[in-house]
Amino acid sequence: MSDAADILRLGETLEGRCLCGAVRITLTGAEKQIDVCHCSMCAQWGGAMYAGLESESAQVEGEDAITTYQSSDWAERAFCSQCGSNLWYRFKPTGNRTFLAGLFDLPKGFGIKQQIFVDEKPDWYDLAQESPMKSGEEIVAEAIAAGFSFD
Ligand SMILES: [Zn+2]
Ligand SMILES: [Zn+2]
Repeated sequence: MSDAADILRLGETLEGRCLCGAVRITLTGAEKQIDVCHCSMCAQWGGAMYAGLESESAQVEGEDAITTYQSSDWAERAFCSQCGSNLWYRFKPTGNRTFLAGLFDLPKGFGIKQQIFVDEKPDWYDLAQESPMKSGEEIVAEAIAAGFSFD
């Protein structure tokens, strides 16, 4: 895990919205790195890899249009009930939430934080950027070392 001081954050707030605009999201202190997950659940959810953005805080408007789905004992995924845009992935043990990078008009200069569940990545694509690659086993081991349990 990287030191908090090492994380590059965006100075300005980021405004995002779903396709229909019923849900609006404002991120403060967004990391300038995208978290990529290649697991089979993310692919089923969104068509291919998940690209998530983490921030210090998030303000979400349009709660009435949001449906959350418990995709496992430890995770929740949310989408707009009107247009179907996926919105976020929340890791319940920490409450940490990442938002779909595609909801935001990102300025240039973002990088990839890490690619996880690389062992589940389909073989029809690869990301060319250099970035840390971790298997599902490595990610689960990291989480367990940090004190989480998946039982
Ligand atoms: Zn919508
Ligand atoms: Zn995933």
